[in-house]
Amino acid sequence: LTQYTNLPCFCGAQPNVTASDSTVTKVKGVFVVLVRNRELHELRWTLRQLEDRFNHKHNYPYVFLNDRPFTEEFKRTISWVTKAPVSFGQVPEEHWSLPDWIDRYKMLDGINDLIIYGASLSYRHMCRFNSGFFFRHPLLDGYEYYWRVEPDVQFTCDIDYDPFVYMKERDLTYGFTISLKEIPETVATLWSSTRKFMKQYPELIEQHNTLDWVSSDNGKSYNMCHFWSNFEIGKLDFFRSDRYLKYFDFLDQEGGFFYERWGDAPVHSLAVAMFLKKEEVHWFQDIGYVHSVAQNCPSDREMQKKCHCDPLKSVDLWRSSCTKQWNALPASP
Ligand code: GDP
Ligand code: MN
Repeated sequence: LTQYTNLPCFCGAQPNVTASDSTVTKVKGVFVVLVRNRELHELRWTLRQLEDRFNHKHNYPYVFLNDRPFTEEFKRTISWVTKAPVSFGQVPEEHWSLPDWIDRYKMLDGINDLIIYGASLSYRHMCRFNSGFFFRHPLLDGYEYYWRVEPDVQFTCDIDYDPFVYMKERDLTYGFTISLKEIPETVATLWSSTRKFMKQYPELIEQHNTLDWVSSDNGKSYNMCHFWSNFEIGKLDFFRSDRYLKYFDFLDQEGGFFYERWGDAPVHSLAVAMFLKKEEVHWFQDIGYVHSVAQNCPSDREMQKKCHCDPLKSVDLWRSSCTKQWNALPASP
């Protein structure tokens, strides 16, 4: 473990997590944040809100991950924000480097700035890491549920209950706030690769799957619907499962993380669609959340009272959102 993790840092106040803090004992939940040193203040801005809106009552721990070592300044400053335990880890090199089966020349052909992040190799490593490796990091060993957080996002409503407990009590596997359509050029062959996978491993596909959400023509093509993975509350065992790992390995061999710009959002979403029933997935409509151009803001009047967002700006009202279609899926028998 010390090979690729720094020691956990309890630089701030000692974590004051007692047995009376019942949620901590009920669910082994953790916040996971992949972040760069230079995003320190954007992250502090986000965590301040998350603490004020939710975690000051629960003290769920944070795991911060980075492909480079965190600076002392980063660790010190972040630990001001919370009294929950914080640990800082480095991503092992083999989870952030080009696999040897990737054709360098073919990859360079696909690097272009016509699409957002199309010219960034680090972005491709990030998407591959979030698709196939974050849940294997030793600092996440022993946790059941993770909540992914990114620098610069906002939490705009009080969260007066515990989403980790909510997920566990209902045996939910995946929770989201925002769904949208992917940029087709970034995933040109993701669907054909996924179809090949399903053909090779039909026994891994859930009988009451939600594939109708990602294909509107009975499987011929991908309709680009995906959950935005910058917010996720998920069961780690789902990603650690044999079926998910087989899917990730299959995609990794296909090479689209580097030849195209496959995002972890469509990859997670296609896995959800193949492997999960509708009832295992939850839209956190009540969690006000802003990431760059898109936000989730509850339209329900009671929910609104705890928020400072404009419900008319909520993405689920946009035509490019897929949340309506998700809600319209039939319940599995
Ligand atoms: P976007 O949400 O698709 O616009 O992409 P972001 O720039 O927000 O990146 C997604 C997440 O990965 C954020 O938490 C970033 O801080 C993190 N991230 C992106 N690139 C890197 C990188 O090269 N190194 C590290 N350590 N984190 C990264
Ligand atoms: Mn982001």
